[in-house]
Amino acid sequence: MNGQQIREQIDRNDAKIQKLLNRFVLTNEINELLQDNEDLRQICKHEFEDGFCKYCDMPIQFSEGKNG
Ligand SMILES: [Zn+2]
Repeated sequence: MNGQQIREQIDRNDAKIQKLLNRFVLTNEINELLQDNEDLRQICKHEFEDGFCKYCDMPIQFSEGKNG
């Protein structure tokens, strides 16, 4: 492996690292949004249409047994 190949490999690795870092930030944001949705589902008075709550998108099977 010569200097030019090393340069290219390091550049490739840096680009991958940058992507992973961006994804990590995104993952945290997504987790916050998912948690927000979970909180909203806790207070939602579900009304199901076609298997999903029309307000919060919760699948109907998740709530079966609760509504008796
Ligand atoms: Zn709901």
